[in-house]
Amino acid sequence: MKKEALLTEEKTLDPQDWSTLNELGHRMLDDLFYYLETTRQRPVYTKPPANVLASMNQPLPETPEGTTAVYEDFFANVLPYNINNIHPRFWAWVQGGGSPFGMLADMLASGMNANVSLGDSMPMYVEKQVLNWSKEMMGFPSTASGLLLSGASLANITALIVARHHANHEIKTKGLQAVQGPLTIYGSSETHNCVVKGVEVIGIGSDNFRKVPVDADYRIDVEALRRMIVEDRAAGCQPFCIVGNAGTVNTGAIDPLDELAALAKEFNLWLHVDGAFGAIPKLLPEFAGALNGLELADSLSFDFHKWMYVNYEAACVLIRDPQLHREAFTSAVNYLTLHERGLSAGPEAFNNLGMELSRGFKALKIWMLLKQNGLETYRTLIRQNLQQAQYLAELIQQHPELELLAPVPLNIVCFRYNAGNCSAEKLNKGNKELLMRLHEQGIAAPSYTVLNDKYAIRAAITNHRSKFSDFELLVNEVIRIGKEVFNSKF
Ligand SMILES: *Cc1c(COP(=O)(O)O)cnc(C)c1O
Repeated sequence: MKKEALLTEEKTLDPQDWSTLNELGHRMLDDLFYYLETTRQRPVYTKPPANVLASMNQPLPETPEGTTAVYEDFFANVLPYNINNIHPRFWAWVQGGGSPFGMLADMLASGMNANVSLGDSMPMYVEKQVLNWSKEMMGFPSTASGLLLSGASLANITALIVARHHANHEIKTKGLQAVQGPLTIYGSSETHNCVVKGVEVIGIGSDNFRKVPVDADYRIDVEALRRMIVEDRAAGCQPFCIVGNAGTVNTGAIDPLDELAALAKEFNLWLHVDGAFGAIPKLLPEFAGALNGLELADSLSFDFHKWMYVNYEAACVLIRDPQLHREAFTSAVNYLTLHERGLSAGPEAFNNLGMELSRGFKALKIWMLLKQNGLETYRTLIRQNLQQAQYLAELIQQHPELELLAPVPLNIVCFRYNAGNCSAEKLNKGNKELLMRLHEQGIAAPSYTVLNDKYAIRAAITNHRSKFSDFELLVNEVIRIGKEVFNSKF
């Protein structure tokens, strides 16, 4: 075939007409800015209607639909039915709200389409810069290692794999058969379920995750932990790791991390701290006491997408011993070794520090947002959320129909409607009904947990858009709906 003939048939995914896409792109930007600017005016929750759900039962596209049509489909059927963690009254689970500048940063990263794994390119150095800043934020030594990951779940499992390697270097090649007696790991009964999942996935087995009891403030009982380690050792088990919580998911409890660090040192165990959101107040001098010892951990996980308000997804793991970190994940293969010069040169490959080979450019949005806002802005916003949690707790205590169900050491508030003379079972059922109506009416979106068999409405405040008045509204509406619910059959 002649070269000219071949050329006319060549296809690409780039537009034939850049100006049309350019115009659509600007419309998208306008739409999204408007969407973010007006989020407060919309309900926090809108149930996707049947016709919208049906729009996700389309046949696999065989022929092109055209960019504008695709965008219209998104605009009509996806955008309006967001999980809506961008709303000022979203306090469900623990979710951050992102920001408009973060959205733009994601666009830049996606445009570059950078694969941040290895090679001599600036995205590698941007991630290294973010990791160095992370160490500084958390009081880790500059020699520590680290990696950005999709979330604290993956950050936790990455740390556990290094902890397992620390326990016994032979596990990497021989598997857990290399260990005499089961490896055991310790964390409070309030430890996040993703840690237990990780323990299952890396072959330790959740039966070997020892759930240590907590005190009235939901903090780990260090003496009980010590007894459990001693007993397990005597029984032929191999204790290898303690998991400390900097901010439990249920109530925001912070374990006595300095005591855990001392205990880990005494028994030569790895100390991992899950600080998904609760490590972030390490930035505040007033938390130096409560978070004392965080900087002594062998590894630490925290999310940027929760209490640093970075757009999803973005989390970080820090590992004190860079050599162990590298050893746990490196396997030399011919097609990935670094060269002295050219594109294949560059800094240490990130794929040697975790499970992922291909990795997106999460670092860019973190880098841009930290620079845009500076730590002083984050300190203000984190303090604002902490004050809002205290304010909400006060409002709850001022209203006799409401009951605060746990202390509020951080940014999580657990409470329920309880006007008295109701059975425990009815209270649980009624508060669940109350929460569902609160969502359905689009008013506010706290979520729930169960504390000492009590169903709790739970507000986790990692929201930079919330105002103090939003919590007044929450309390008033919970009382209104609570009356409605408990005065009716439900
Ligand atoms: C959210 C959370 C996790 C999991 O983090 P993801 O970013 O959702 O993967 C782990 N631990 C705690 C305490 C959390 O709050």
